[in-house]
Amino acid sequence: MRVGIGHDLHRLRPGGPLRIGGIDIPHDREAIGHSDGDSLLHAVIDALLGAAALGDVGQMFPDTDPANRGRDSTEMLAAALEAVAALGWKIVNIDCIIFVQRPKLLTHRLSIRQRLADILGIDLERVGLQAKTGEGIGSIGLEKAVAAQCVVLLGERDEG
Ligand code: MG
Repeated sequence: MRVGIGHDLHRLRPGGPLRIGGIDIPHDREAIGHSDGDSLLHAVIDALLGAAALGDVGQMFPDTDPANRGRDSTEMLAAALEAVAALGWKIVNIDCIIFVQRPKLLTHRLSIRQRLADILGIDLERVGLQAKTGEGIGSIGLEKAVAAQCVVLLGERDEG
């Protein structure tokens, strides 16, 4: 088995929607990023690549490459998963935390988990998701940033 950890943060600006986990959530702020600014998917990508010692999202998708501008992070995650699977690994489970002051994510939690499960090709019960505010202080609490963390456990794929 292998365990990996991922972390990502994006600055926020007035606008919307807010993309989290491949879902566009109606909001009055949006993430600034070279790609689509999806911090949750970027954290999942880094956790996957980290578990397989394949580097990180910046290495696989450099922000110096114009092809990655505005790129859909679900595509990047699919490519990372493919690289990990090619080494003989499959996902046992993932657990993630989103750090954002607003909006309340409770009503979006199931759809974000389902989207992650669909992209990763795993059962919903293997995808954990928690949401935290910034308690009104710091970059998260003052709504200047959104961040995410993820841990992933990989196991050996059954052959045949
Ligand atoms: Mg990022």
